[in-house]
Amino acid sequence: MNFERFQRQIIVPELGEEGQQLLPKKHIVIIGGGGLGSNSSNILTRIGIGSIDIVDDDLVELPNLYRTSIFNEEDVGRPKCQILEEKLQKINSEVRIRGIKKRVTKENIHSIVKNADIILDGTDNMQTRFLINDISIKHNIPWVYAGVYSTVGMIMGIHPKHTPCLKCISQSIPEKTGEIPILGNLPLTIASIECTEAMKLLLGKQLSGFIIYDVWNQSFEQMNIKRNPRCSCCQRGIFEFL
Ligand SMILES: [Zn+2]
Repeated sequence: MNFERFQRQIIVPELGEEGQQLLPKKHIVIIGGGGLGSNSSNILTRIGIGSIDIVDDDLVELPNLYRTSIFNEEDVGRPKCQILEEKLQKINSEVRIRGIKKRVTKENIHSIVKNADIILDGTDNMQTRFLINDISIKHNIPWVYAGVYSTVGMIMGIHPKHTPCLKCISQSIPEKTGEIPILGNLPLTIASIECTEAMKLLLGKQLSGFIIYDVWNQSFEQMNIKRNPRCSCCQRGIFEFL
């Protein structure tokens, strides 16, 4: 990959030339191409990840536009993953971008993530997140959880056997309560933090634990949660969503 484009990123000590050289060798699978997934795939393409798959089976709708930085009115009615593939490829032609028009299920998730160095959460539901968590722990693939609600985002990098998994901190799926409120600028901010934790996982750096950021009140909380010794998933190997 042409490194000229990264000259001001290479001089960031946390990354350095060594880190920058590692990124093009990595393959990331992003599950969901909406507010979080479209913004994180945009960031990851620009910073020099080598290969990115975006898995989504939805079409772009007008109410999506206010919270993404990639889609526009011409894209309405077309598949999100296809638009992302087309547009991101123009940002860096050396990155291998693949839009995969599928809904992730327990039947197909293994074939979707089996070559991933890391999985990114771009979903909007806990059922799929627990499914990602199960496959991550079972096959030792790190992933980054991210969720948004109203003005608040939550992020946690999950490194199997090293950090708590999603099941360590949440035992059950909360009841659905209708449409989720989301402030327009929140997904981009949370996607940015999600990508930072992804880079740390790829480079073997220390993660920042469970992060809660409120984009309205500008409050940032970082919690170091311990692994749950009775976790059914990462301790007892019960993968109930798979
Ligand atoms: Zn666990």
